[in-house]
Amino acid sequence: MRYSKIIIWLLGLLFSLYYSLTAQSQEDILQDLQIDVVYLASDHLQGRETGTIGEELAARYITKRFKQIGLTPKGEGNTYVQPFAFNFSTNPHNKDSEARIGKNIIGLLDNGAPTTVIIGAHFDHIGRGAFGSRFLDGPVVHNGADDNASGVGVLLYLADALKKSNLKNNNYLFIAFSGEELGLYGSKHFVKQPTIALNQVNYMLNMDMVGRLRSDKTLIINGAGTSPVWKETFPKIKGTPIKIETFDSGTGPSDHTSFYLADIPVLHFFTGTHQDYHKPTDDSELINYEGMHEIADFMLALIAQLDKKGKIDFTKTKDDSQRQAASFRVTLGILPDYSYGGEGMLIDAVLDDRPAHAADIQKGDIVIKMGDKKVKDIFDYMEGLSQFNAGDTTTVVIKRGKSELKKKITF
Ligand SMILES: [Zn+2]
Repeated sequence: MRYSKIIIWLLGLLFSLYYSLTAQSQEDILQDLQIDVVYLASDHLQGRETGTIGEELAARYITKRFKQIGLTPKGEGNTYVQPFAFNFSTNPHNKDSEARIGKNIIGLLDNGAPTTVIIGAHFDHIGRGAFGSRFLDGPVVHNGADDNASGVGVLLYLADALKKSNLKNNNYLFIAFSGEELGLYGSKHFVKQPTIALNQVNYMLNMDMVGRLRSDKTLIINGAGTSPVWKETFPKIKGTPIKIETFDSGTGPSDHTSFYLADIPVLHFFTGTHQDYHKPTDDSELINYEGMHEIADFMLALIAQLDKKGKIDFTKTKDDSQRQAASFRVTLGILPDYSYGGEGMLIDAVLDDRPAHAADIQKGDIVIKMGDKKVKDIFDYMEGLSQFNAGDTTTVVIKRGKSELKKKITF
């Protein structure tokens, strides 16, 4: 044997020894995912409502896991925690709002790269269902296993996998957001007070509800129009059982919206809504852990495809409300601001040559009444809209600055 051959053989031996010591078996991976989800979605955490002890316990658990994985603290003052204060009104009839403090948990995988990828998932849920519950029979713990212990589980898996990988051309910032369910407060705060320079951010991946992959293995991806790179890259991901269904819009009712509005390319991964959504029965027994693993590996393959691409381009998306619009006979031709937490429905954009545009309704206006229907939030707005047919005329009341204006609309 030549000397160089012996060296190669020795290196091979060392590599396989190293691999057998560090590689996690499929069984270990599924078990880790399950441990994270079962703890976060246990009754002990009381539904993880922002500002409660349940949220605090969840924050401590995620902090411990970030430390274990070896992420660098990137919250405030050398800790993993970024606290934020917000005012929240549980009763829309009541102007008094409650001051609360939430906590984002933030850890960095620093590869010394010029750009950083943000990977996020919210860890808060709706507690005992005082706000946002679809369960009507009194206060009960809403465990939120799919929404969104599942997203946090995938986040922790990705942090560990990226730490061990050779994908070094980006840094990775992992954020477990709080305040999502009450109005995207944690992600809005991070974008306003980022702990890294936002102009270094390459793109943001958000997992919200990734625990119910169905047997046809369809993964919904929102935000596919926020960079031209996304749709070029998806077909290059081979050897995955995942089938994707993409939607262009960069806005939606989850934390990626906050980053899209800061001109950052985003994707939101989602396995679809279900009968346990925002009910006490969103439990860990119903989670598809293999599915979570398949989604996580799909995301790793996507990240690997982009490793040497440098900073990807951002594009604004058009209204992608076909899915919601399908259940309405008419539309106003506006885009709601999903991240708005105040009373009424804030208009983010007005589309040309549609009813709202014709009635001189403008971006920044807040819809507070549609016909006789008072609009306290986006759901009231949708309900209001569903009463009308094409050709109907009604009055829409909007707030513009301090004045209230009545606008006549013809659908
Ligand atoms: Zn959620």
